[in-house]
Amino acid sequence: MRNIFFLIILLFIFPFAFANDGYLRNYKADVLHYDFSLAINDTTDRIEGTTLIKVKFNNATDSISFDLTGINSDGKGMVVTSVSLGAGDGKWKQGKEKLTVLFNIPARLNDTMVFVIRYSGIPADGLIISKNKYGNRTFFSDHWPDRAHNYLPCIDHPYDKASVDFIITAPDRYKVVASGILIEESDISGNRRLTHWSETTPLATKVMAFGASRFAVQLSGNVNNVPVWSWVYPENRKEGFSDYSVAIKPLEYYSKLIGPYPYKKLANVQSKTIYGGLENAGTIFYSERSVTGLGNAEGLIAHEIAHQWFGDCVTEANWHHVWLSEGFATYMTSLYFESLYGRDRLNSDMKSAREGVLKYNEKNFKPVIDTTIINLMDLLNPNSYQKGAWVLHMLRYELGDNVFMKGLQLYYKRFYNSNALTEDLQSVMEEVSGRYLGKFFQQWLYTAGQPELKIWHEKGTKKGMINIFIQQEQKSLFEFNLELLIKDNSGEKTEKISIKDRVTKIVTASANDAIITPDPNVNLLFK
Ligand SMILES: [Zn+2]
Repeated sequence: MRNIFFLIILLFIFPFAFANDGYLRNYKADVLHYDFSLAINDTTDRIEGTTLIKVKFNNATDSISFDLTGINSDGKGMVVTSVSLGAGDGKWKQGKEKLTVLFNIPARLNDTMVFVIRYSGIPADGLIISKNKYGNRTFFSDHWPDRAHNYLPCIDHPYDKASVDFIITAPDRYKVVASGILIEESDISGNRRLTHWSETTPLATKVMAFGASRFAVQLSGNVNNVPVWSWVYPENRKEGFSDYSVAIKPLEYYSKLIGPYPYKKLANVQSKTIYGGLENAGTIFYSERSVTGLGNAEGLIAHEIAHQWFGDCVTEANWHHVWLSEGFATYMTSLYFESLYGRDRLNSDMKSAREGVLKYNEKNFKPVIDTTIINLMDLLNPNSYQKGAWVLHMLRYELGDNVFMKGLQLYYKRFYNSNALTEDLQSVMEEVSGRYLGKFFQQWLYTAGQPELKIWHEKGTKKGMINIFIQQEQKSLFEFNLELLIKDNSGEKTEKISIKDRVTKIVTASANDAIITPDPNVNLLFK
């Protein structure tokens, strides 16, 4: 009672709602759309921006704050020169990380307002202006996780998704790619070109993107009427087109497995992203080193394409639930490889993922949903990726292939172009299976570590029988099914044992010199 009372008081005092990943959400306002107009050039890294933001209000208010980085000690950052509002100009003030606009006439419930913000500056981050490996100047957005507001005024958190247009003017030697579909490409005065891309599907800022470079561009094919393009440096035209054309296969596979691809095109773009790949919606950026001509980027490409469903279309509402993005993309990639090469390939993927998780956990004894993480870059750890993948793998084993896939499809359908939390996945999986999965989700996602098993056997009281003991040695007890492969002179068999106690004993027919191998089919995360 006291906690609830305290929360009500907090909500009464503060006009914003707190969520535990540290981002102050504003539930009074919902961004519907962004137009990002940017002028970029070759003489300076300074950009000139005009951003139009359309906001719908869910409550009465007389102000709104957007994320935008002001000037830092290096002189980098954005300086706002004007802000106009649809209903007459208000006051605005720019702080270190926020641009706050105060309205002359308060917004009411269900009002929409359009803000036009003019600004300029040198991006400290979020837009990488540099030279590529061939010494050519390039511009690539690189927003994940919350780096967009270094140069774009926005709500820089995935909970508020919005449609987006990029209108880029650049020297005419650049080609520009961005989120959405191309709606204008015009040569304008001063040897400049205006390129306008428009995405009507709501996106999280972390996966909005544009890139400007010299590019070679090729249509690799179409999957269910979705064009798949390769955008690579002209110097890498041959190798790049070849390496990126593999994208067709995972796109086809996931579309069939999960549901329709959410965007109108897929561009695979060679870029200067700081990551191996960045899953920008419909416009994936890969490290420029991903192009080799050897076709060895298939795993990377399959991972980033899987994100289009999980992470981009169904987006974690809270950063601490990022395994819904990374764990899913990791496991979907393994499923893709399983479909190509069979169960052995999946098993070997899961074994190396298990090794990664165990090694990481030796020094980082933390649950997958680790609410102590403050630096968002720290979310990129084996718990989010490999252990997240293992959670899905074990859920599949627990529910069976059919129910598990039905669950994934329903989860995708239900949270299509929206946000979800781990509890939403749990309730969908409970709905399709008719089972309570609280203990499963609790132990694998909210509890640190995994079962550490000691397994031994001794002669039974009856001839030809043995007693097998399985002891859980970790602190908190887990509930799971364990398969044991029991081999002796007369043959081999597999026993499936349900474990929930500290020590489990089973009696089975076998010679005393039997060799017992736990988890022969790679279905359990354990030590
Ligand atoms: Zn990823």
